[in-house]
Amino acid sequence: MTARILVVDDVPANVKLLEVRLLAEYFEVLTATNGPDAIETCENGKVDVVLLDVMMPDMDGFEVCRRLKRDPATSHIPVVMITALDQVSDRVRGLEAGADDFLTKPVNDLQLMTRVKSLVRLKMLTDELRLRASTTRNIGIEELLSRTFAGEDAQPKVLLIDERKPSSDRVRKMLGAVADLDVVADPHAGFFQAAELAYECVLVSTGFSDFDPLRLCSQLRSLDRTRFLPIILLAEQNEEERIIRGLELGINDYLIRPVDQQELVARLRTQVRRKRYNDRLRASVTQTIEMAVTDGLTGLHNRRYLDSHLQTLFERAVARRRPLSVMITDLDRFKSINDSHGHDGGDDVLREFARRLRKNVRGIDLACRYGGEEFVVVMPDTDGEVAEMVAERIRAQIAGVPFAVGTEGKTVEVTISVGVSSLLKGLDSSEALMKRADLALYEAKNGGRNRVVAKAA
Ligand code: GH3
Ligand code: MG
Ligand code: MG
Repeated sequence: MTARILVVDDVPANVKLLEVRLLAEYFEVLTATNGPDAIETCENGKVDVVLLDVMMPDMDGFEVCRRLKRDPATSHIPVVMITALDQVSDRVRGLEAGADDFLTKPVNDLQLMTRVKSLVRLKMLTDELRLRASTTRNIGIEELLSRTFAGEDAQPKVLLIDERKPSSDRVRKMLGAVADLDVVADPHAGFFQAAELAYECVLVSTGFSDFDPLRLCSQLRSLDRTRFLPIILLAEQNEEERIIRGLELGINDYLIRPVDQQELVARLRTQVRRKRYNDRLRASVTQTIEMAVTDGLTGLHNRRYLDSHLQTLFERAVARRRPLSVMITDLDRFKSINDSHGHDGGDDVLREFARRLRKNVRGIDLACRYGGEEFVVVMPDTDGEVAEMVAERIRAQIAGVPFAVGTEGKTVEVTISVGVSSLLKGLDSSEALMKRADLALYEAKNGGRNRVVAKAA
């Protein structure tokens, strides 16, 4: 794994020390000796993780972190704060400034590498999502993500899996006001509950008498439903090895007992904030994909979608020796509807037409708006005869009931012409199939409109 790490420390010797160790692991290293330089480097792009010294003259690490996290252009870059002392208060201040993790000087080699690697992994996932979300969408992804969403500050739903009652009671007391907490004592039951309910973070205690807590973590990581659920391990003082294994397995954070309330609250908040951010990214990617293949006016699939799916449906039909039909419909004299009812009136007609079309085809049929006032329906498992009947039924329903336009109760009579074609035995192609339907449509128009013409197979 290669990534670009920015090391920030006002003492050049400290910079050098970290740089040498990171270079030995084949990371690319950038350096800065003060806050403003560090921020500028991050703004100029391509930093994957920042290792940030807390104590620096002029602008300290907390302030640098706050600024990076406040700017939507840099807020997704993970920041690891490096504190001189293992001061809980410093860590809490750092988390409140938005830091993603901590290391204490002198920096332990194993911890440095595990932390950096796990944050790089996370950053790559986020980058991938950001890229996918922004490529097909004009609205800036940064803007979208920096908007405050309803429920942003809602109490997170948290699951604690801990079989020792005194310990779970303590945690319950600590989180009483900040989280909606469920507690499960049995690790197996806890695993199923985590998979069933929509938690935003799970706290796993290491103190089971007869169960390996890391097994639970790895199960949570491998199940689809909990793959992105943050896990915080509550560990004992002497469990460094176990924590490192846990981090390798993909736990997100840990606390060492005795658990400090402020630190627990702050770490929980960081995990939940990050999860909500990534959930939003994921949702926006899904939405982007949907938008890219949907026609905005009618909600039907668009031509791009048809182009990418017709071939698949065609090949499937050929391979299974099943029939396949296509119909192309075009609204008759639509220009004159626009002329007499305005463009908005025309849009009303298109929407209503799409509604009637959808009502008259099956779920497995692919209905899409092919362009302007032209629509295509691909019908798997349907031979020419049946397709012609379907087309005729739609034609009659369009011509039979006038369309409402505008808000003043006006109506307009609409008719359509339809061309139908079906898969031929022997040599055929999806292009030829479409072409025949188009020719049939042309004949329907020439034959006087408001009619169906089928090209016999
Ligand atoms: P024909 O019976 O030969 O199909 O006549 P027509 O008037 O329907 O055919 P033509 O293709 O010449 O005109 C189609 C019109 O559809 C022209 C265009 O302005 C209009 N149109 C295309 N897209 C939209 C749209 O999204 N909304 C509205 N209101 N009109 C559209
Ligand atoms: Mg037309
Ligand atoms: Mg037309």
